[in-house]
Amino acid sequence: MTVQLGMPLLPSSARAATVDRPAFEGLRDRYGRVATDLRLSLTDKCNLRCSYCMPADGLPWLAKQAVLTADEILRLVRIGVDRLGVRELRLTGGEPLVRADVVEIVAALRRAHPELPIALTTNAVGLDVKAAPLKAAGLSRVNISLDTLHPETFAQLTRRPFFDRVLAGIEAADAAGLGPIKINSVLMRGINDGDGADLLAWCLERGYELRFIEQMPLDADHGWTREGTVTAAEMRERLSERFRLSPDPRARDGAPAERFEVRLPGCDEVLGIVGIIASVTEPFCADCKRTRITAEGKVMSCLFSHEETDLRDLMRGGADDDDIAARWQDAMWLKPRAHGMGHVGLGAADFVQPDRSMSAIGG
Ligand code: SAM
Ligand code: SF4
Repeated sequence: MTVQLGMPLLPSSARAATVDRPAFEGLRDRYGRVATDLRLSLTDKCNLRCSYCMPADGLPWLAKQAVLTADEILRLVRIGVDRLGVRELRLTGGEPLVRADVVEIVAALRRAHPELPIALTTNAVGLDVKAAPLKAAGLSRVNISLDTLHPETFAQLTRRPFFDRVLAGIEAADAAGLGPIKINSVLMRGINDGDGADLLAWCLERGYELRFIEQMPLDADHGWTREGTVTAAEMRERLSERFRLSPDPRARDGAPAERFEVRLPGCDEVLGIVGIIASVTEPFCADCKRTRITAEGKVMSCLFSHEETDLRDLMRGGADDDDIAARWQDAMWLKPRAHGMGHVGLGAADFVQPDRSMSAIGG
C-alpha cells in the first residue's frame, strides 16, 4: 500500500531528480518508512575470506580512484545528517580497518558531528593497534564478527589463520572503551552450528552482547540455500538446551535483532542479552530504517536491491548539495517493500540474489 503524504508532486525537471515523488524531508520511501541509520562502506577490500561473504580468491577490488575519498565521505555524511535526517552512522566494508586513513576519517567525522553516534563493524584484525586511536578519534563503539571459539573452525570459515589476532583486537577494543561490545556471529550448518552456546557463554562472561545473524544469500559464491540456513528458531532451540531465553521487555524500536534476556535454568539473575537477527525467516523489512552507501558512492536502499544510485560521479561532476540530497531521496523513495527471500506470499519463489556480495555492499 502506498502511503499518501498529502504533498505536491515535484516535477523531476525542477531538480536533479530521476523519479516522480512528493516533496518531503528526509529519506522516506513509498511505504512510509524513514531511513535515519546510514551504513557507509569505507572499502570493498578485506583481509579475510568468510565463506558466506567472499570467494576463496577474493574479488576484483575497486580501483583506488573509484573509491570515495575521505572528503567525499565527509560530504555525504554532512548531507545525510544536516539535510536528510541521518541520526546514526555505521562505518563498514569490506573490512574498514584495511583503509589506511580510517582513524583520520573518524576524527574528521567526529569534528563535524560532535553528537552523532559513529559505530564501526569490523573483523577486528588489526584492531589491537587501532582501537585506542579510534577511540581517541571519537569512535563511539564497535561490532565485531566472530563465528567460533575454535581456531581451526575460524581458519576453515574465514580461510585465514587469524583467530588470535581477532581475540587481541576484541580485548583492545574493550580496554579502549569502545563498548558496549557487540559480537556478530553467522552460524553455518555443519561447520559452526554447534558453537552458539559456547559463544554465548564466552560473551556473557565478558559483558559482550552476542548477536546471531541468519546467513543471507549474499555470498559471492552463490552457494546459499534456504534449507541450509541455520534458522533463528533452530538457534533459539539450541541455546535453550543450556540457557533460558525470555524476550527482552525493552521496545525493539526498528532494531534488526530480536533481543532475549539470558538466564541459567532455575535462576532469576539476568546474565546478559542475546540478539537474533532473523533476516531470512522472520524479516523486519517493515521497520527498516537503513540507507546504505557503497565504497564507490552508490546508494543502496536495501541489501537486496538491484537498483543502485551513483552519488560519487554526481559529486565529481560538480553537483551541489541540493542535487545530491535529491538523488539520495529518489533512491530511497524506490526502496522495495521487502526483500522477498523468505516471505510467504511476497515472491519468495521469484527471489533473485543480487550480484553484489555482502563485502561489496557494506554489511
Ligand atoms: N568485515 C567486517 C566484518 O566482518 O565485521 C565488516 C563487513 S561484514 C560484510 C559485516 C557483517 O556482515 C559481518 O558481521 C558479517 O558476519 C556479516 N555477513 C557477511 N556476509 C553475510 C551473509 N551472507 N549473511 C549474513 N551476514 C553476513
Ligand atoms: Fe571480510 Fe567481513 Fe566479509 Fe568476512 S564478513 S569476508 S571479514 S567483509
